[in-house]
Amino acid sequence: MNVPWEGNKCILCFLERELCEEHLIPESLGGKLTCNFLCRPCNSNIGHSFEAKANSDPSILLAVSNLRNHIPILAKTISESHPHLGRSKSGVIEGYFKNNEFKVKSKKLKNNSLIQTTDIARKSIKKILQKSGVEKAKEESAIKKFDASPENVKLEISPGFEVIKWPLQKIELDLSKGKLMNLLIPVKTAFEFLALDIGEVIYNKSPQLQEIRDCLIKQEINDEAVKVERLSSGEYVPMHGIIVERNNPYSIVQVRLFGWLAFKVHFLKIAIEGERFVYTHKLDTGDESVCIVK
Ligand SMILES: [Zn+2]
Repeated sequence: MNVPWEGNKCILCFLERELCEEHLIPESLGGKLTCNFLCRPCNSNIGHSFEAKANSDPSILLAVSNLRNHIPILAKTISESHPHLGRSKSGVIEGYFKNNEFKVKSKKLKNNSLIQTTDIARKSIKKILQKSGVEKAKEESAIKKFDASPENVKLEISPGFEVIKWPLQKIELDLSKGKLMNLLIPVKTAFEFLALDIGEVIYNKSPQLQEIRDCLIKQEINDEAVKVERLSSGEYVPMHGIIVERNNPYSIVQVRLFGWLAFKVHFLKIAIEGERFVYTHKLDTGDESVCIVK
């Protein structure tokens, strides 16, 4: 859903540049709510800095893994962009997905042995044997032994040259490589949603609004202007949601991702009274809705 924007300048830097499409919830998380109210430099600053790692949060990875039957494509895209671990009888190895295929990350161990995928290992064996001056016939016989070697058994394919084939039993997300989501992401989503709510009033030069813009431009949260709570609910639901609670003395915007992970953004100095303004995006059907809840 692209919400039309009447203003002619960027809501962050106020420059009258060409405005481009901004995803309020990062596109990398399946966000579809957009508005053309950021200039290109502000949009790409956000995209390349704190928003870039949005989908490596362990809670997001667990959520999409639990919701994979409801949102198969998004779950696959998010989880396959993240490092994985391959488990075998002989050990654990780091890897990643490329073109739908699990690739082992080549690694040299302290004892000088190499861990590689079979096809790369075959090339390495040839190279090493050729470098050490082994005759062509012996090289070919070593490769034959390598191709025929049983799994999980250490085998000498050439004098002093041993190999073990590790069949992978399980491939799983490497959650230790995850990084908690930068809290500037929900602050950005909440500020932009506030802009949809109050329209061009967002251009008001009051220090209260400027403090929030400064957080996003300088990429640093100012504790006196905004507080973010990270919460989790009891269940995974294939939906994203944003709610503005217009309260006195100040407004709160809730950003909920995959039903499970929620951020409560307290704009400590901004008061907008009135009804609750709610956006929901069902990730399985693609349906989006905006409504006022009295
Ligand atoms: Zn800008």
